[in-house]
Amino acid sequence: MATTTEPRRDFEATKHMKALMGKYYADLTTGPAQGKKTAWCTSVGPAELLRALGFNVYFPENHGAMLGATRMAADLIPLANARGFSPDICSYLTSDIGSYLKGESPFQKMKLPGPPRADVLVFNTNQCRDVKDWFQFYAREWKVPCVGIHTPRSLGELDDSIIEDVARQIQALVPQLEPIAGQKLDPAKLRAVMEWSRQCTDLWKAVLETAAQRPTPITFFDGTIQMGPAVVLRGTPEAVDYYCTLLAELEQGVANGTAAVPEERFRIYWEGMPIWGKLRDLSTQFASLRTAVVASTYCNSWIFDDLDPADPYRSMARAYCRLFICRSEDRKEQYLEQMVAKFKVDGILYHDAKTCPNNSNNRYQMPQRLEQKLSRPYLVINGDLNDLRLYSEEQARTNIEAFIEQLAER
Ligand code: SF4
Repeated sequence: MATTTEPRRDFEATKHMKALMGKYYADLTTGPAQGKKTAWCTSVGPAELLRALGFNVYFPENHGAMLGATRMAADLIPLANARGFSPDICSYLTSDIGSYLKGESPFQKMKLPGPPRADVLVFNTNQCRDVKDWFQFYAREWKVPCVGIHTPRSLGELDDSIIEDVARQIQALVPQLEPIAGQKLDPAKLRAVMEWSRQCTDLWKAVLETAAQRPTPITFFDGTIQMGPAVVLRGTPEAVDYYCTLLAELEQGVANGTAAVPEERFRIYWEGMPIWGKLRDLSTQFASLRTAVVASTYCNSWIFDDLDPADPYRSMARAYCRLFICRSEDRKEQYLEQMVAKFKVDGILYHDAKTCPNNSNNRYQMPQRLEQKLSRPYLVINGDLNDLRLYSEEQARTNIEAFIEQLAER
């Protein structure tokens, strides 16, 4: 590895990603005219199964993130509140329903009419109950079926009885989905989709693991953008091609000593949801403090080591139950310990997202326990994924500055 570091500009690969994502959104719109049915899927739902059945697969959480990143959410959330969805529940849900009610979406900036209407909505409660409530709103609205998988939460050991139960639930979706898709599930197609998904996940993992290098060539903030294809296009060869390109660029960057944050001094782990409307500001602040946010639970949540084309249902069940968000406190703690070691982290930032208790892991003493065990300081930032009324920029800035000073004094 080179001994000097050079600052990184943008990734060359990003322009391919923009084209790829643009085509994905356009295809969602044109698919129905070509006889394709549309399935809405939660971000860690059974996307492989839906793709193998020939559906257009649409992920409304991705739309929620777009509403946050474009800061459209603030105007839209009150519309959902007025319809009885509490300001305290998931702000992806309230932003998205507000967007539907107002008929305004970032899709229109891409000259597309809006998110595609669902023929079926397919959830997995592995992440939270909100996704089911969210999908049921649209099921009532459009009078279309809403089906899904009820995964237990706070899981410790993933024993066979849990995996068998979830695998049976996934398999039971097939006869419900086939008549909507207008085709029978082809096992060979399912295997092929699983294989692409597996390759995508392996490459995405390798991309994120380049951040174990010092200096890191990629940060959490880059990851929130680069993860797009891993979320919405897993199970396609296009996503595999994209991550081959991005990984090659990052490996070259590591060889050249390219630094995502010039003169990297400290390395931080981001635990919890992104604050979508403030990514640029936070990225700039951390860079000015010569601090790289090198890893996060969030971006790593689309790594599914268990996917196995030879055993699709059980391996999907295992992959989607192993997810951090549905694990017990002790399993989460073990995971974070490994991540701190792997990415050589100096401190952990916990984002306490007001409307997502499911993905806020500072509320049951985790920061204190890990600080004691790992001798790494922590900082809790109060905010939200989409509702910026719940985030005090000034307070966050001051707290981050003080936290980095604390690291410098150690
Ligand atoms: S995990 Fe949190 S952000 Fe994601 S859908 Fe559930 S409540 Fe919303």
